[in-house]
Amino acid sequence: MKTAVVLFNRDLRLRDNPALAAAAKAERTAPLFVFDEALLGSRFAAPNRVAFMLESLHDLDEGLRKAGGRLFVRRGDPVREAVALARECGAGAIHVSADWSAYARRRERRLAAACREERVELVVHPGVTIVPPGAVTPTGGDHFRVFTPYHRAWSEVPLRQGHGAPRKLRIPSRLRAGRLPALGQLIAGSTSPERARGGEVEGRKRMRAFLRDGVGAYPDRHDDLAGDATSRLSAHLRFGCVSPLELMLAARERHGEAFVRQLCWRDFHHQVLAATPSLPHRDYRPRRDRWSRSKRAFEAWQEGRTGYPLVDAAMRQLDREGFMHNRARMTVASFLSKDLYVDWRQGAWHFWDLLSDGEIANNAGNWQWVAGTGNDTRPNRVLNPIRQAERFDPDGTYVRRYLPELEPLRGKEILRPWLAEGFAKLDYPQPIVDHDEAAAEFRARRGV
Ligand code: FAD
Repeated sequence: MKTAVVLFNRDLRLRDNPALAAAAKAERTAPLFVFDEALLGSRFAAPNRVAFMLESLHDLDEGLRKAGGRLFVRRGDPVREAVALARECGAGAIHVSADWSAYARRRERRLAAACREERVELVVHPGVTIVPPGAVTPTGGDHFRVFTPYHRAWSEVPLRQGHGAPRKLRIPSRLRAGRLPALGQLIAGSTSPERARGGEVEGRKRMRAFLRDGVGAYPDRHDDLAGDATSRLSAHLRFGCVSPLELMLAARERHGEAFVRQLCWRDFHHQVLAATPSLPHRDYRPRRDRWSRSKRAFEAWQEGRTGYPLVDAAMRQLDREGFMHNRARMTVASFLSKDLYVDWRQGAWHFWDLLSDGEIANNAGNWQWVAGTGNDTRPNRVLNPIRQAERFDPDGTYVRRYLPELEPLRGKEILRPWLAEGFAKLDYPQPIVDHDEAAAEFRARRGV
């Protein structure tokens, strides 16, 4: 084929990118990114993620240039712009990666229709997950509802071939290139001061460091809140700066099965979302909850002023870094949806506003899992925030990192500040609820 377009979405990498690898086989390749006007104006375009994405796009452009290509940039409707570019350069095919949110699938359907009309071939590739949704299904079902059998089936599925980065690219001549805009042209709000930096180069640096120093100790250390010993690759996976397949194979080689299992969780939630597009909005397993509408409770949670140090530290971490440790995410999500009995969707939206790795399948899937409306086989368990702190931050190092107002407390006092002698002098609230009472009330509401 003479010319092919590759339309990037959230697969912003050169290495092991099946869509790019296929487009690079054409005589000329037009790599395209379209700033989707419909998303930019919406709450989906959280500043931390847009900033991360922009850095990733700069990095991608640089990488493409090194191979003799470049990134063509447009703003508007991705379908219209991709087809227009194909027309302009006489491309015979558009290559894209499959994605799984309701929005992404609608976009793909529209693109398919527009390509048919334009007589351009549309080729949809895997690459966003390790195992594509639907590739393994249980007998008599379209997706797995429980993780363990999914993990078993997933572990045995034949994997696709990996790809290197294209060595040499030739772009079509006389095409308007377009420019990557400044961040201020894309967002109005501010970003978190300590957020992660985007890009394949940065992602690969982290990946190498984790595979060298982190994956071996992961089974013992992944829940250590202060140790911060997880890969911190979630935003790079979210924007495709790192290939999940490549990461998984490299971890497997180093006997990193516990880590590989976490990557499987990522695929698990994607196959749930693919089968249940309403996952971000509707209870997967309705429990007839009549959620509290307490604004005071929700705001205290948001601001990290619940009086439970682990919950509050975690919420401040989210604000400061656009990231939160998984153990902390589970604790704050349980606290909001079970102790405060506030609708999990409110919590998911707040995460969505701040997380650099904020991603529909994993955010909605995990929130529903913790709230007990999703795939957890023990939907009514309530995490005790003090017990979680005792186990995963016993000396309060994580809490002190994010709650300077608790600095005067000594030793175990930090687990229950309200019992400490100098509590009245601290700028720190009393617990907003009594955990044991709130947990009992929650169970009564669920009728268990
Ligand atoms: P590591 O422990 O190093 O794990 C490696 C990778 O495995 C992660 O980067 C991630 O891609 C995947 N992974 C790990 N745990 C999970 C999990 N429970 N579910 C799905 N994938 C997982 N993750 C997101 O990527 N985006 C989200 O929007 C998101 N929202 C969450 C909301 C809640 C309420 C909870 C409890 C979890 C959420 N997670 C989300 C999952 C998990 O917390 C993060 O992926 C993880 O903390 C990222 O840190 P890491 O990269 O250091 O993880």
